[in-house]
Amino acid sequence: MEGQCKATVFDRFHNYGCSRKAGYGPGGEYCKQHAREYLMEHGPVIKTMYKVYTDIWEGPEIIEVGIVDETDKLFYIKNTDQRYVDYSQKIIKDNTDKERLYETKEEALKAFMEGVIKDLESIERDLKKHKERFDWAIAKKEEINKNKEGGK
Ligand SMILES: [Zn+2]
Repeated sequence: MEGQCKATVFDRFHNYGCSRKAGYGPGGEYCKQHAREYLMEHGPVIKTMYKVYTDIWEGPEIIEVGIVDETDKLFYIKNTDQRYVDYSQKIIKDNTDKERLYETKEEALKAFMEGVIKDLESIERDLKKHKERFDWAIAKKEEINKNKEGGK
């Protein structure tokens, strides 16, 4: 199908029709990029996967996502977990260490548990460091107080 992509592009002040060539998406009415965006918003989910976040500060969590398109490196996903709709509807992420996609809930759960354990270990290390610092400060305080009394 010939013609121009039917998507509307917005910049700060204007909106205008996309000028790229159509040929992708439903009815071949979109350019490659907009076909993908259309898929991410309206597309049928071709499979469900599980995304595991193991960020130490936000804590590990599992989010169910719908894959709408898949290439060698990228998974184009649509969030099927209602709680996170705003957050990841537009997410395009490669399958990196920090945010992994798993085929099954069992794999995701395993990774999730590993994430929890890693967090625990990291927290334990921090606690130990703080404890050492705390002990040092207490000892120092006592030493200073002793010197004060001794100096009278
Ligand atoms: Zn377009």
